[in-house]
Amino acid sequence: MPGARGAGPELLLRSMRSMPRPTIDLHSHSSVSDGTETPTQLVRAAIAAGLDTLAITDHDSTAGWDEAVAAAAGSGLQIIRGMELSTRYEWRSVHVLGYLFDPHDADLVAETGRIRDDRLTRAERMVSRISEDYDVTWDDVLAQSGGVSIGRPHIADALVARGIVRTRSEAFESILHFRAGYYLPHAAPTVLDGVRIIASAGGAPVIAHPATRGRDAVIDEGMLEQLVDAGLVGLEVDHRENTSEGRATLREWARRYDLVMTGSSDYHGDGKPNRLAENTTDPESLEAIVACTRGVAPVRA
Ligand code: AMP
Ligand code: FE
Ligand code: FE
Ligand code: ZN
Repeated sequence: MPGARGAGPELLLRSMRSMPRPTIDLHSHSSVSDGTETPTQLVRAAIAAGLDTLAITDHDSTAGWDEAVAAAAGSGLQIIRGMELSTRYEWRSVHVLGYLFDPHDADLVAETGRIRDDRLTRAERMVSRISEDYDVTWDDVLAQSGGVSIGRPHIADALVARGIVRTRSEAFESILHFRAGYYLPHAAPTVLDGVRIIASAGGAPVIAHPATRGRDAVIDEGMLEQLVDAGLVGLEVDHRENTSEGRATLREWARRYDLVMTGSSDYHGDGKPNRLAENTTDPESLEAIVACTRGVAPVRA
């Protein structure tokens, strides 16, 4: 083989090492859910940040996909079409990222529709409780939402607009905290069903920020085994809300169950301090994710 002996391969390796690695961020939100930027603004921010690849992963909705793809056209930015599906495990809320699934899959369309409908009635009921103690109305909240996938962040924005709290974070630490007396859960499938729905729609399911609750990960190893059997592809290891002990456990599990490890920002525009590319995913890991999918393809135009 030419170049297999002598200085050739060494030079090649050296130049490969100095080649910049593509910056890949697989978790971001637009105003379709609780990000503060439209899909177009989100894509522009990703281009400005020098990303090679961005996944748009709004909560329980694919409504931002087409706009994001159109906004990236001609820029060279690769768009991975995804979603962050709300699920439950016992009393806990578990978020499952799904990548490159068929957005028209009947089960997926039905389940995400149910979640979004219940998000709406749940938010309205929370606001009616809050309005007994604070001067805020349902119309204030609707004015803050893109109208597709509503959640506590939009209630937070209404409380900020009314001057009741200063920031989203302050709202979450006080009025919107699940122990504050106004909190209501919304309907969501079990995490096992969530993983099945994404996998059978041809997507790659990855558990989002699985280690945010101290030493104990949100899911235990018994449940993880069931999720792996149901088609789980990966774990989001590098995320600002995962603890360092939690990340070590996740790395161990990834080795043991042959799962892909990702790292991502979970960018929400101005809605959270998370910055694009503050955590990133290896190109090899993205390749492994794409290889598991048969819904839609990555787009780079
Ligand atoms: P919900 O799904 O309606 O219960 O709201 C949860 C959402 O609120 C998550 O998607 C987070 O992105 C967002 N969130 C949680 N905590 C905070 C916080 N401290 N500041 C801003 N957003 C938050
Ligand atoms: Fe969010
Ligand atoms: Fe999440
Ligand atoms: Zn997220």
